[in-house]
Amino acid sequence: MQINITTLSENTANHGFIAEWGLSILVEVDGTRILLDTGWGFSSAYNAQLLGIDLDTIDTIVLSHGHRDHTGGLRDILRRRRNPVNVIAHPDIWASKYTHFDTGDEFSGVPFSRESLESLGARFNLSKEPVLISDNIMTSGEIPMVSTYEIIEDNLFVKHGDTLQPDPLADDLALIIKTDYGLVVVLGCGHHGMVNTLHHAQKLTGQELVYAVIGGTHLYRASPERINNTINDLKEIGVQKIGVSHCTGFPASLRLAEEFQEAFFLNNAGARFTLP
Ligand SMILES: [Zn+2]
Ligand SMILES: [Zn+2]
Repeated sequence: MQINITTLSENTANHGFIAEWGLSILVEVDGTRILLDTGWGFSSAYNAQLLGIDLDTIDTIVLSHGHRDHTGGLRDILRRRRNPVNVIAHPDIWASKYTHFDTGDEFSGVPFSRESLESLGARFNLSKEPVLISDNIMTSGEIPMVSTYEIIEDNLFVKHGDTLQPDPLADDLALIIKTDYGLVVVLGCGHHGMVNTLHHAQKLTGQELVYAVIGGTHLYRASPERINNTINDLKEIGVQKIGVSHCTGFPASLRLAEEFQEAFFLNNAGARFTLP
């Protein structure tokens, strides 16, 4: 079993690549190519070209949730393809999402209409349940919020009529790969919590062993207590590799790097994780 996980877009970038706030990760398992998220804008398609990746060879696109920094690159990717492509996501990606900043509330949802993306070849498969992509690859479906300390950020909203209400982020999902080494879990933003996601992956697959977790962990506004609890639970789960991206933030990255030493890596644009 050959696995390549290549990060096409992230807040920071390796030599020669373009960085944008957001995330896009190409997952290749025995020749099947799945793109988890598309970044904020054109960087995912640009960096793919730099790596010599033909976007038409991507079999499936998975959107981890509706936020713009994960869906904004979709139009660019579809425009550079010749063939239609299946896009797996939760129906709530179409909610009217807003983020509260000090400067005001900003629309932060999918920046395109469903129709415009469909006219460019997107074939949406919207599901609240896990979707099996191949024998060894699945989406998580909705992730139950079980741990006591993992909470959804209080600056994320959905617009209903004229009012903003807290966004439950039911659309938050991850990609789960069963490998000979254990599970490899690829996160988009991890809004429902990294530990909740890993426990859900264990339950779904019936596999206890988690080899690697890669992607956004949404710890950038987390309290020191939450970061400590996360580290303790990751150790209990026995995670062997941790590649953090995007919304992890500097304090959490620093703590994880200290705790996990060589098992830790910064997963930025151009980074490549391979198995075996
Ligand atoms: Zn998000
Ligand atoms: Zn994000």
